[in-house]
Amino acid sequence: MGFTMAAQELNCWKCGTPVREEPLPLQRLAECRHCRAELHVCRMCEFYDTAVARFCREPVAEEVHEKERANFCGYFVASPAAYVAPDSAPAEQAQRDLERLFGDESGADPASDEDAARRQLERLFGDDDET
Ligand SMILES: [Zn+2]
Repeated sequence: MGFTMAAQELNCWKCGTPVREEPLPLQRLAECRHCRAELHVCRMCEFYDTAVARFCREPVAEEVHEKERANFCGYFVASPAAYVAPDSAPAEQAQRDLERLFGDESGADPASDEDAARRQLERLFGDDDET
């Protein structure tokens, strides 16, 4: 068994974004730069398996109840296969896009900024025409 971990790319278990900036092995407070999901979690672990008791194939590991929260488990091994694109992925992406859209509108309104800029331009050109 060679040390092939480094060659394998880790992806966020939640959104699939490649985990590149986090130092390896993953720190307990590591989080996805895209969706801010905590990465030192059962869902990101080699031993995570919904087919077995406690969802963990490591028999000695203490049970972790919160599978999606950063844990203190000493057996944690980040799995390059943690991300499984679920059927709901496109819907979740769409919802994120919507949230971003609405977020932009409730905050700084780019449309009104544009209008203001245009009005300013028109005023400038208008002044030029009058003189
Ligand atoms: Zn993510």
